[in-house]
Amino acid sequence: MFEHLKKSDSEVYEIVKKEYRRQEECLELIASENFASYPVLEAASSFFTNKYAEGYPGKRYYGGCGPCDEIERTAQERCRKLFNAEHANVQPHSGTQANMAVYFSVLSPGDTIMGMHLSHGGHLSHGHPTSFSGRYFHTVPIELDRRTGMIDYDVVNRLAEKTKPKLIVAGASAYSRIIDFKKFREICDHVGAYLMSDIAHIAGLVVAGLHPSPFPHSDFVTTTTHKTLRGPRGGLAMCRKEFAELLDKNIFPGIQGGPFMHIIAAKAVAFGEAMKPEFRLYQEQIVKNSKALAEGLIEEKFNLVSGGTDNHMILVDLRNKGIKGNLAQYILEEAGITSNKNSIPNDTEKPFITSGIRLGTPAVTTRGMKEAQMKQIAVFISRAINSADNKEALKEIKKEVRKMTDTFPIYGWTE
Ligand SMILES: *Cc1c(COP(=O)(O)O)cnc(C)c1O
Repeated sequence: MFEHLKKSDSEVYEIVKKEYRRQEECLELIASENFASYPVLEAASSFFTNKYAEGYPGKRYYGGCGPCDEIERTAQERCRKLFNAEHANVQPHSGTQANMAVYFSVLSPGDTIMGMHLSHGGHLSHGHPTSFSGRYFHTVPIELDRRTGMIDYDVVNRLAEKTKPKLIVAGASAYSRIIDFKKFREICDHVGAYLMSDIAHIAGLVVAGLHPSPFPHSDFVTTTTHKTLRGPRGGLAMCRKEFAELLDKNIFPGIQGGPFMHIIAAKAVAFGEAMKPEFRLYQEQIVKNSKALAEGLIEEKFNLVSGGTDNHMILVDLRNKGIKGNLAQYILEEAGITSNKNSIPNDTEKPFITSGIRLGTPAVTTRGMKEAQMKQIAVFISRAINSADNKEALKEIKKEVRKMTDTFPIYGWTE
């Protein structure tokens, strides 16, 4: 692999190699990341990258789209089957694009949307003021219950009654509990709102039946393809049949130009992988690992938002450890552990500082790690946080991390 790049552009080649080494040698605990398979990587770097195919299968604005039609139809069909969706659009370049297309399909600027607040688990594209979603739409943020750290559906219902949103977003980037799409549907019906479920983080769990499906409750379902779903970097937008034409039109020509056909090919490959029985076992192990890591952290006297996890993710409240999220992220990186600082509910620190870190198990599970390694990782994290100003101790942890990652290679690429 990369023999041509190596020959023609050693500068870029060396940087690619650095990134490869980083992935192999560190413990990847960022909850939104994963390692796509070689078949997915090959499809993503295939000859389809050269092709313009504006439009949809059978209705293109360019010639020579035969194979593009075939690959996009294959991706659509697999996607519908996988998620039990009436209609699937596989063209969104990212999760944010998928959300934008849905908003533009049924909302006008100034309409009200309701979604989880960024520091209560929501995503920027759910109405944050710095995102297009908060600039074009009036947004009502949902906050988590202060006591439980979970969604209180009665509070959501009352907030919806009072603010009359036209669309409610059910979905999160930092929420470690089950999301009750049926309850969100009831609230939407009560106030006459559309329901868009954003399953970017949990798509893999949904496919494997380990998290309740957003269908048939949702009008629209959006997701990324690169998180628990373990495909290429990209997005998907699905909907009930009645919205199909509207949604397609709002992706192209609404907000995008030519589709990334190479990524659509890679999405098709990832969907194929997700249909196999091994994928279900993989998702089960993600959740088992997440619970084991949570238990390990609790044993090390860490406080977890909501007290634990039902999915692939853990949100750690660091306030009792006397360390801010940004410093914790830095310290862990010094010890070979990659994570991200994250706001916790009612955080008094700014989003660039934060009082928490978010951890997830999809990536370490892909490399074959199990509960025993999670317990060990919890101890690594605890030792690192307690050695914040001890460079030698962090170096020693990094060595032990390296021993562990060497035992669980991902790609095993050799020059
Ligand atoms: C990751 C994420 C997205 C956006 O994904 P991008 O591909 O980075 O645009 C949208 N919604 C949620 C809930 C996410 O977690």
